[in-house]
Amino acid sequence: MSAQEYTFQAEIQQLLNILVHSLYTEQEIFLRELISNASDALNRVQFEMLSNDDVIDADAELAIRISVDKDAGTLTIADTGIGMNHDELVRNLGTIAQSGAKEFLKQLQDAQAQNIPASDLIGQFGVGFYSVFMVADKVTVTSRSFRPDDQAFAWTSDGSNTFTIEPAEKDTRGTEITVFVNEEGQEFLETFRLRNIVKKHSDFIAFPIYLDDEVANQQTALWRQPARDVESEAYGSFYKQLTLDYRDPLLHLHVVADAPIQFYSVLYVPGSADRGMFNLRTDHGLKLYARKVLIQEYNKDFLPNYLRFVDGVVDSEDLPLNVARESIQTTRAIQRIGMSLKGKFLGELERLADEEPDKYATFWQEFGVFLKEGIATEPGDADRLAKLLRFHSTVSDADQPTVSLADYVGRMRDDQAQIYYILTTDLQSVVNSPHLDPFLARDIEVLYLTEAVDSFMLMNLTEFDGKKLQNVDDADLELPDLPEEAEDETPAEQLEEEPFEAVKARFADVLGERVTEVRESKVLRGHPVRLATPEGQLDRNVQRVYKMLDQDFDVPRKILELNRRHPLIHNLAGWIADKPDAPLVPQVIEQLFESALLMDGIHPNPADMVGRIESLMEAATRRE
Ligand code: ADP
Ligand code: MG
Repeated sequence: MSAQEYTFQAEIQQLLNILVHSLYTEQEIFLRELISNASDALNRVQFEMLSNDDVIDADAELAIRISVDKDAGTLTIADTGIGMNHDELVRNLGTIAQSGAKEFLKQLQDAQAQNIPASDLIGQFGVGFYSVFMVADKVTVTSRSFRPDDQAFAWTSDGSNTFTIEPAEKDTRGTEITVFVNEEGQEFLETFRLRNIVKKHSDFIAFPIYLDDEVANQQTALWRQPARDVESEAYGSFYKQLTLDYRDPLLHLHVVADAPIQFYSVLYVPGSADRGMFNLRTDHGLKLYARKVLIQEYNKDFLPNYLRFVDGVVDSEDLPLNVARESIQTTRAIQRIGMSLKGKFLGELERLADEEPDKYATFWQEFGVFLKEGIATEPGDADRLAKLLRFHSTVSDADQPTVSLADYVGRMRDDQAQIYYILTTDLQSVVNSPHLDPFLARDIEVLYLTEAVDSFMLMNLTEFDGKKLQNVDDADLELPDLPEEAEDETPAEQLEEEPFEAVKARFADVLGERVTEVRESKVLRGHPVRLATPEGQLDRNVQRVYKMLDQDFDVPRKILELNRRHPLIHNLAGWIADKPDAPLVPQVIEQLFESALLMDGIHPNPADMVGRIESLMEAATRRE
């Protein structure tokens, strides 16, 4: 059988074209990519051998060997991993498998629109095997699969649009990649240079990397060392090798436990929540090793789903090796490790919140929503998570949410029984909410809850430190008396009984079924009206979410409260007495009602108000 020619998938042609012509300065990352592939292949054969005896070279050392032939101008990276047969070579090295490379191509289109050169992007993505063409004129991949019946084949390409495959001589299991180094890549034929690259990018690879018969990587798993022996930079570089995130993690936590169950773990919080698109890890979860064998790349059974932003490694001697990947989560050992890890991780967040508030603020900014989700979804963790919450409030003028529930309780007035919050979508406009009137007048702090997830969170967060959390739109607010000086600056006289009854009746008439009741407000000061939520409408936190999710949501029916001292109410009373049929009256009533809906974030379609506002302005600007 002679060499057969194949054409690369179009995306790969595009990728190759970019890589061959790019001026990317850190070309050395090609070695990281090849070593990482070799390490994956070794992991896979190691896992295969747990359950399969029929593997060739079962006794071969699991290792990576790098060698240089200066005369031939070649660099060779060989492994004793799982290998590839004919079809696997065609598929794996002819079509795009890798999400990192796909993401790179996608981002590249945006980047090109902004004139950002491709070379600026390459380092941020794991562009995979094909990165070797940045330094090669030609590459040959000779491979023999672990399956005894498969033959060895050689894959060759010069990085143009095609590759060839032909039968090869190779008796041993694994893959050997020969890189014919191009003119600019001559430095990669120098052993000392290669040694530095391995140290820099691949030090924590779990298999020995031999360079000239000397092991070039540290290899001992960082997580198996006592924490006091690990320098803090080492945690950072291990994180980068694990995730290919190019930024430092925000936080690391090293756990070594002996009893009741033995395990090692290093957990990380990434520097930001949006690292996703740069991250080579395509899913969330922890890397699971059992007795040094990689069992699972993305284990989701240790930590609750709300902690899915956490990256890291777990390694235990107490896990059965023959466990099927699917049934892992049912083992008791996993559950106990998970409990312990979660406890330690939350403890670390508590420590951070206490000892490094600035850093905690950064954490909160990026990952706070996940903890709120935790309160909504894991009632058992709610009490602990509640202490970690941070909010904006009427008292705090910090840019970031920094007020904890404990801070709030510490500032509560002696005669105040509840913790007050207002749901809002907009920090800028919330200060104008009529619901805040009575609280500002009494110097009572109100927390601003601004995120969609807050509504879900509140279903499981009804109390803190024995104090009830209370929405400020409640119909039956029981507030301490007003301070005397505040009584003095009362805006206007109270409207007489009779005209006020007429105003109330007119509101009720115009709004009809849209409100449950129209009544006098005991709490309003600077605003004419507010919509109070009647008792029993307990699911009101969810109304906001429905509104966000669903265009045709039903506007909830509420109590409309009128401020008997407000000039606007006085004026309306005048119109109703003198010119009850004036079209202005119902228009103003409608507008007051809809403005209140808008302020509460439950107006189904604010743009509908524009026509009426224009006609009100026209009336207001008329000169006669
Ligand atoms: P990724 O590693 O993200 O899957 P790559 O472009 O680095 O993407 O590699 C493509 C595929 O080629 C791998 O998924 C793997 O199936 C195969 N491959 C590459 N190198 C080796 C190797 N040394 N041994 C076995 N398979 C390999
Ligand atoms: Mg790879």
